[in-house]
Amino acid sequence: MKELKVSLTKKCHYPKFIGVFQNKINLIFVGPANWSKEYHTCSGKLQSPINIDEHNVTNVSLSPLRLIGIDNPHQSYVTNTGHTATLRTNESKAVMLSGGPLENIYVFEQLHFHWGENDHEGSEDLINNHSFPMEMHAVFYKEDYKSFNEALKHSDGLAILAYLYEVSPQPNPTYEPIVKVLPDIETMGKGKVLQEPLLLENVLVPDIAKIQDYFTYPGSLTTPPCLEVARWIDFKDHQQLSHDQLAAFRDLRNQEGDKLTHNFRPVQPLENREVLHNILNNTHNSGHSGQRSVKIPILFVALGALVAIFLFAM
Ligand SMILES: [Zn+2]
Repeated sequence: MKELKVSLTKKCHYPKFIGVFQNKINLIFVGPANWSKEYHTCSGKLQSPINIDEHNVTNVSLSPLRLIGIDNPHQSYVTNTGHTATLRTNESKAVMLSGGPLENIYVFEQLHFHWGENDHEGSEDLINNHSFPMEMHAVFYKEDYKSFNEALKHSDGLAILAYLYEVSPQPNPTYEPIVKVLPDIETMGKGKVLQEPLLLENVLVPDIAKIQDYFTYPGSLTTPPCLEVARWIDFKDHQQLSHDQLAAFRDLRNQEGDKLTHNFRPVQPLENREVLHNILNNTHNSGHSGQRSVKIPILFVALGALVAIFLFAM
């Protein structure tokens, strides 16, 4: 606990994601249309977000996407960066991502949210020009680069998992611990530890059966300097949040003290990029902590033993 408190005082005022580019924070409020005046990288050819047109994707069947270390509860804290609410965990228990379109291992850095003024807009990527009320980004950096900041210097530096939300009549219990702390971090720079350790599995793998169904494309950060260093993985499955849960995010305040009613960047040109759609392939086992791949051989052994006993009895 003591260790966490030390890191909190160090990080909560300016979390790394914002801290790297301290002057970009003002630019965010100037508006996305002006970003490229300051950062030419914001008008590159691999910019995010994009509209994903389901009729213009290439179906592929990649190796299973794997998330490791998500089944341990992580002590987590949420901060108001002035642009979004960012969740980080106690870093001693690393969460890793590999497989799918990724050739290497990526380490979890943070997750954060994008939302809109109302329940009809808010996501960054669009699907068939449809906007969702919220999008969550789970950001991972390539393990070989040792840190998030170093990874930003390389075109294969980041992998970002994107989750889209729709409005549900009932609140989603998985997000209640996060929503609960939002009133305590209304002011920019404030942070709060979640009351209970968070099981990232519930947030990152809400449905194991649907985790291999996603779109993927090469893109950028969606805030200045819009570095083109990210492999995006957008899950097709939609998550649920109630209107009140969504509305709680809109009460956060930005640098000026105004309500952070929307924080999504408009879609950017696709240019020459190809969006891949990973389709479920039954010959692959589901990639999740490596546990599924162990269970199947055990089943075969058990079945074999049963047949042997049956034959012996004859
Ligand atoms: Zn984001």
